[in-house]
Amino acid sequence: MAAHPPRIGFVSLGCPKALVDSERILTRLRAEGYEVSATYEAADLVVVNTCGFIDAAIDESLQAIGEALDHNGRVIVTGCLGARPGRILEKHPRVLKVTGPHAYEDVMSAVHEHLPPRHDPFVDLLPAQGIRLTPRHYAYLKISEGCNNSCSFCIIPALRGRLTSRPIDEVLREAESLVRAGVKELLVISQDTSAYGADIRYRPAEWHGRSHRSRLVDLARELGELGAWIRLHYVYPYPHVDEVIPLMADGRVLPYLDVPFQHASPAVLRRMRRPAHSEDTLARIRAWRSVCPDLVIRSSFIVGFPGETEHEFEELLEWLEDAQLDRVGCFRYSAVEGAAANQLACQVPAEVAAERYARFMERARAISTRRLRARIGQRMRVLVDAIDGTRAVARSAGDAPEIDGVVRIQKAEHLKPGDWADVEVLGASAYDLKARLIA
Ligand code: SF4
Repeated sequence: MAAHPPRIGFVSLGCPKALVDSERILTRLRAEGYEVSATYEAADLVVVNTCGFIDAAIDESLQAIGEALDHNGRVIVTGCLGARPGRILEKHPRVLKVTGPHAYEDVMSAVHEHLPPRHDPFVDLLPAQGIRLTPRHYAYLKISEGCNNSCSFCIIPALRGRLTSRPIDEVLREAESLVRAGVKELLVISQDTSAYGADIRYRPAEWHGRSHRSRLVDLARELGELGAWIRLHYVYPYPHVDEVIPLMADGRVLPYLDVPFQHASPAVLRRMRRPAHSEDTLARIRAWRSVCPDLVIRSSFIVGFPGETEHEFEELLEWLEDAQLDRVGCFRYSAVEGAAANQLACQVPAEVAAERYARFMERARAISTRRLRARIGQRMRVLVDAIDGTRAVARSAGDAPEIDGVVRIQKAEHLKPGDWADVEVLGASAYDLKARLIA
């Protein structure tokens, strides 16, 4: 065995959910005395956590595996693409082992087999909150794995399996230990946050001497007690989500909802087989805003879905104008190998999808600009992410990291990442705000 503790190189690709998997694997590795190497060359073995969501992600994953093989030669592959070992082994027959998504035990036993751990009495020095790949002041909190829906453009249920919720006490324990370790913002993620607990029949569990159901509203309420910002992602607009909105109005949970609407035309939503496709989403948004006027809604959409007619696309634009969403992402539909939507007739030509994308984004940009301008003169609390020269780059309650805009604070070089700051908004662009510190 080498003189140094066994060293693992780790490559993490894909979405925040994959990032959480990486954090868990790294936590286990560190707990067992493995070191994490910053270079391929210094590592005894490399683990690549892959993404297999769309073809571009598959290519990126295959390329990352190739690079790790070239520079190191001993590679274990895990993650979403790992659910299709044939695809990996065909291109890279030299990989030591392929394991699927959410298969921590399999990854660990593959690592043990090819690079046995060294017994070390100091393994307990591992920080209780585990190893995180996000900056110290925010962390993703994964509440469930898998999905019981069957959206026709998505292969995640095939890759990650059916919904498996973590019991509420386990989630709260992790959240509390993250906050104790200095985390100021928790980002709740899953494939379908509104469905949390349905698979375990909302099983109650004891937490701090009281019984709570493994259910979204209970979870949000208890998370709101921890004193950190709580941000909810991937929330489908089911009726029971209404119960969470008063917690936002009371300031216990951030007034922010990431709702992946994907489209607004009832016919397209039906073809997409979206959950909650028959809900009157405009009425729901209006009701939410009447309870919590500061609510910021983020969403993502797909244009050019197979069979999308000009009329259906116009319905989407009209809906967007009515809904006045604050933050919007948009994708042009692209076929994913194995997705049911590939069988639908009338694929939309690429140039039509591109033109619709441009029209959609123009409309979304105008709405975002209007809504951000309305914040000029407001005072708000922000969380600093970085310092850029003399300015601090921060986020308000309405901005999730990585995907939304930022608040740039002038003359704030004395602040540091993770600091809170109270600011007054001076100006707005299409996506970002400019602000000054207030005493
Ligand atoms: S809700 Fe639909 S898009 Fe989201 S993971 Fe489940 S099947 Fe995929």
